[in-house]
Amino acid sequence: MVNLLEVEDLAVEFDTPKGPLRAVRGVSFEVGECETLAIVGESGSGKSVTAQTLMGLVPLTARIAGGRVSIEGRDVVGLPDREWRELRGERIAMIFQDPLSALNPSLTVGYQIAEMFRRHRGTRRAEARRRAAELMTQVGIPDAERRLDDHPHRFSGGMRQRVMIAMALALDPRLLIADEPTTALDVTVQAQILRLLRQRQQAERLGMILISHDLGVVARAADRVAVMYAGRIVETGTVAEVYERPAHPYTLGLMRAVPDPRDTGAPLEAIDGQPPDLATPPAGCAFHPRCPFARDVCRTDDPAPRALGPRRASACHFAEEVIANAGRG
Ligand code: SF4
Ligand code: MG
Repeated sequence: MVNLLEVEDLAVEFDTPKGPLRAVRGVSFEVGECETLAIVGESGSGKSVTAQTLMGLVPLTARIAGGRVSIEGRDVVGLPDREWRELRGERIAMIFQDPLSALNPSLTVGYQIAEMFRRHRGTRRAEARRRAAELMTQVGIPDAERRLDDHPHRFSGGMRQRVMIAMALALDPRLLIADEPTTALDVTVQAQILRLLRQRQQAERLGMILISHDLGVVARAADRVAVMYAGRIVETGTVAEVYERPAHPYTLGLMRAVPDPRDTGAPLEAIDGQPPDLATPPAGCAFHPRCPFARDVCRTDDPAPRALGPRRASACHFAEEVIANAGRG
């Protein structure tokens, strides 16, 4: 499989009065063509900062403290803004949970989509408008010609998300990041949007990163999963591996906390205790204060992610024991 995205040992730090806050610590993953990698984790686990970094949008108070990100073989850490503006939209694009905040309420939807072509490709007005209508049809917006001249508030939540997807795909990117793309939608519409994303992904051979805290959505939409905790990927594997035989106590807790983790809406915040303050993380394994498997070594030695098989890893000293336990559970 061709890797469209490779992230290796990425570290992102925020400067705070208390010192550096390590929001992303040694994160590595890759995404291939037609593949969806889900990143799951509680808020503050580092998943959104990771996504922003991949888009070249590191928050102003943060910096990339180490590691490598390559998009279609090109190293992008430290690229000047001018080059990022070309990559964004053209090679890698993003859709958000709330399309209303990403769309301009005072401009028609057709104008906003057409602007993508005009700004990036210098397409003439009539042609840009025609292509906007074509895209709207492709993402399942009925009566696209007529709806070009409607403002965002005239669309339902699901239709607005379709508009966002149309804009994200306008310039034929190879990679799509979807940050909680269906969280604001009801279950039926959620399923429609996930189906649309899968369909566009197959048609365009997109690599996709799905950021979610919804284990049901992830089970339905992803091929592989990366579980984040306290800025680190603590486990990766296929959906079946991670859901059925978790190799990290945090994942095991997530899966056990809900009756059926594959149901939509299964929450992530159901494990006892709180995630650590990353400005003052615990010594050793960041999960140890909450971990039923913790032993002395966990309080002193921070476990690095360790391969358990091809594209399967866990950052736990006792991964094998956890897997055996999951099998029994
Ligand atoms: Fe738990 Fe220790 Fe594994 Fe951390 S390393 S998850 S504390 S068993
Ligand atoms: Mg977020």
